[in-house]
Amino acid sequence: MSTLYVYVPAVAHTKAGHPENHHRLADLLAVLHPFNVLGELTVIISKPASMAQLLRVHTKGLVEQVRQVSRRGGGLLDRGDTYATESSYELARLAVGACCTAVDHIMSGAFRNGLALVRPPGHHAGRDRVSGFCLFNNIAAAARHAQKAHGVKRALIVDFDVHHGNGTQDIFYDDDSVLFASLHMFAPYFYPGIGGSHEMGAGRGRGYTVNVPFPPFVGDAGYLHALDALLKPKVDEFQPELILASVGFDAHWQDPLAQAGLSLTGYAQVARRLIEMADRWCDGRILFVLEGGYKQDILTLGILNLIYALTGQDEINDALGPMPYAEQDVTEIIRQLRQRHLLK
Ligand SMILES: [Zn+2]
Repeated sequence: MSTLYVYVPAVAHTKAGHPENHHRLADLLAVLHPFNVLGELTVIISKPASMAQLLRVHTKGLVEQVRQVSRRGGGLLDRGDTYATESSYELARLAVGACCTAVDHIMSGAFRNGLALVRPPGHHAGRDRVSGFCLFNNIAAAARHAQKAHGVKRALIVDFDVHHGNGTQDIFYDDDSVLFASLHMFAPYFYPGIGGSHEMGAGRGRGYTVNVPFPPFVGDAGYLHALDALLKPKVDEFQPELILASVGFDAHWQDPLAQAGLSLTGYAQVARRLIEMADRWCDGRILFVLEGGYKQDILTLGILNLIYALTGQDEINDALGPMPYAEQDVTEIIRQLRQRHLLK
């Protein structure tokens, strides 16, 4: 068993001067080439998501909005900076379909784990609302697909993009079959402005949303403490059959917009913790799905380290070094969250 990747660079979904543009992925394979890791992976050809796959996580109104704006030649989809071009509807469907196809190959046992290098990203897209550069929620559709097509009863989604995965939370908020955990920066005026620790799910889903709101400059130790002291015991209770991870590389300390403070080593350690959880509960079944991350060297080396981790190599490339500022202590935040989630 080995590692797959799906690749949707979505070259025709791009807007001049926008940080979420096709260069993020279009240039990636050439830059990774000298590291000699691509031979370790198998590329899987993607097909567009079916309407049924989209409508498991979105309203018909949202799907229709994206389709109509694309058909008219493109434009802005919200008051923020979420855009569509004339090709975006098809390409966003392809990104969703790629993640569902990756799930098929992992659930069938043909591959142990995988990496979805797709755009546009998805984790800010809610049931009925596009947001934050996201049109359709790739990872949410993949989780629902795993349930519908492969009988998965308990799926875990861990989101460690620096921004809260508000769209994914929205889709699974009242659902006890998908445990959603988000580690994110939480500060005044920082997008999307929700993801507080009191948001824990509703109805049957109460307790199945775990938000870890971090102050700026948390760094590697804080992230790993959250994983070890909070997420691991929570996951051990839940016993997932499949792990999906929303990985955004904007929590790196050199990111120009956020101040989360992870290093490349920290990213690699977070990924390795999640792979260990997958080994423990899911026979290794884990799919990493790309979300944000807009600085090319962080993105490239971060993905390189993901490949090392997924293919069982010990190597970590940290050419950018550790955060040069003092790390924030998050012990008290995690202690309170453990209490909130009734962890002994
Ligand atoms: Zn982000």
